[in-house]
Amino acid sequence: MKTGLITSNTYQNHNTGNGHPEKIDRVTAIINNFKRLNNKDLIWKKPSKFKKELLEKTHNKDYINLVEKSFPKKGLSFLDGDTIVSPGSKEATLDAVGSIIAAIDGVQNKEYKNAFCAVRPPGHHAETNKAMGFCIYNNVAVGAYYLLEKYKLNKVAIIDFDVHHGNGTQDIFFNNSKVLYISTHQYPFYPGSGTEKEKGKYNNIFNIPLPAGTNSEEYLNAYEFVLKKIKEFKPEFILFSAGFDAHKDDPLAQLELTSKDFYYITKRTLELSKLYCNGKVVSILEGGYDIKALQECSEMHVNALLEFN
Ligand SMILES: [Zn+2]
Repeated sequence: MKTGLITSNTYQNHNTGNGHPEKIDRVTAIINNFKRLNNKDLIWKKPSKFKKELLEKTHNKDYINLVEKSFPKKGLSFLDGDTIVSPGSKEATLDAVGSIIAAIDGVQNKEYKNAFCAVRPPGHHAETNKAMGFCIYNNVAVGAYYLLEKYKLNKVAIIDFDVHHGNGTQDIFFNNSKVLYISTHQYPFYPGSGTEKEKGKYNNIFNIPLPAGTNSEEYLNAYEFVLKKIKEFKPEFILFSAGFDAHKDDPLAQLELTSKDFYYITKRTLELSKLYCNGKVVSILEGGYDIKALQECSEMHVNALLEFN
């Protein structure tokens, strides 16, 4: 069985301005690396087109309308202090969501066993009615709702290993017993949320705050808690919010992970997924701002997806 790689060229038209860390090169570097590796077990696929109603589970209508009107005819405009859109951002934003839809359909239809979406803009800071932290639509949240609605699943787990807390995903599923959200992140840090006290209405949120300077060994110990929660929840599908900014070389954060750690946590999670959901896993890119680290970490992560049987 193979692994899906979902991407399109439209991310290149999402211009965030000179010097912005969430830049076009991030996804270009990832894609060029996978082209170079040329693994025949990687199935390249384009994002799906989808109906606007699909977004309305995750975001309220007023917010979606505001986003649609925000794309400028030329130049740049701001959705929040650091979330910038350009004329081409519209397509990129829709394709980022469409990628996780295509990835999920491919896994459910057994086209491939699991999948990774190489997209931008990222999504996990976007709340029900708010753009934030480079994120416009919450891609992984739309994916989770799609699994609940289209495939009638009752237990979807989201594991967010981006170095920042996914305040948006937490906000969207705070009152939803069908979605388990677990996040490891640097704390105290942007965006400020993500304490152990934030548990969700149904005890369905688990935050693992980690101090600046956390190294591989300490992180991997903390990740055992993620695995424990997955065992207890017994998900029917697992989604990864895959940010690679916990890498030691990342310029935006101060955790000290190595590229290999991303292989290890992916492999351990996949082993567990076999027990509960036949290895059904879809991963989507969030952050990661050192280009070389991003290339290496995404390769490690996808290698673990490819190796899994
Ligand atoms: Zn991040």
